Amino acid sequence: MSSFARPIVVVSKCLGFAACRYDGQIIPCDFIESMKAFVDFIDVCPECEMGLGVPRDPIRIVLDGEKKLVQPATGRELTQKMEHFSRSYLENLDDFDGFILKSRSPSCGILSTRIYPDAGSTTCLDKRGSGFFADVVTDKYPHLPAMEDEQLDDILLRDHFLTTIFTLASFREMSSSVSMHSLIGYHTCNKLLFMSYNKNILARMGNVVANREGLPAEEVFALYLDLLTELLSEPSETGSTINAMMHAFGYLSRYLSAQDKFIFLQQLQQYREDVSVLFGLKEKLLSWALHFDVDYISNQTFFRPYPQELVLRLSEQELEIL
Ligand code: SF4
Repeated sequence: MSSFARPIVVVSKCLGFAACRYDGQIIPCDFIESMKAFVDFIDVCPECEMGLGVPRDPIRIVLDGEKKLVQPATGRELTQKMEHFSRSYLENLDDFDGFILKSRSPSCGILSTRIYPDAGSTTCLDKRGSGFFADVVTDKYPHLPAMEDEQLDDILLRDHFLTTIFTLASFREMSSSVSMHSLIGYHTCNKLLFMSYNKNILARMGNVVANREGLPAEEVFALYLDLLTELLSEPSETGSTINAMMHAFGYLSRYLSAQDKFIFLQQLQQYREDVSVLFGLKEKLLSWALHFDVDYISNQTFFRPYPQELVLRLSEQELEIL
């Protein structure tokens, strides 16, 4: 098994952990199943934790002057109870690196949940919103990755999510000793990855690590983590990823034939129109770095930000679907 730090992810319990949906159903999620060997999950069902029981009468969000959570069959309004549960539950959790929440739920959905004009209406409003638990999640942890199960079918969003949780978990593990030496090592092997996200924030992180003001290590780590979560809060863009690959290519080009260089640069152009070539380009750079013993490049997390065994399991799943 890989030597990656294990991320901790808070997950909606109905996504394969328990039959806790309002109708007593469980939702199988192959992606989460594949992750279980590499990730620790904290599963929670906010509606069950509030004592609503299984099965239960469905609840819904209504926009009645303000946003409310109601249970039409019983006439109960659950807004405050859900908000209170969500805040106190999250405050009592220790470390975690991200969230996977069930789409379209009035509790867990992120921007995908139906909103109704009132408790009795059979038609919903045009706009969608977030569930009440998800609202508290995104309010309290704006820089932690929070994805819905359905978003993880998108290969690039999934890559971003996995990259983020494994990078944060690795920082958490490294920071247990608060050693500046370890922080420098962490920063060095993540440089290309961070460049592929945002080179301006990478430069600020470099200044924090340089610590010219001589701040205490705890303060340096806290400043660094703030920048790290800001950096990872948005998926990387094509232009930044190309910059990072060109940077690696710069280290390797002296070893390459004119033909290899020409083909690589052509494929890099292709990447602007077809993001699916990204993974092949990264593999090509890594194989060159390994072949020519360019350790600074081959040690970069940019090429393998999360376990290769997980990549294989996910690829197998995709082949089964086809
Ligand atoms: S979506 Fe959230 S509240 Fe609803 S059953 Fe799943 S975990 Fe429970």
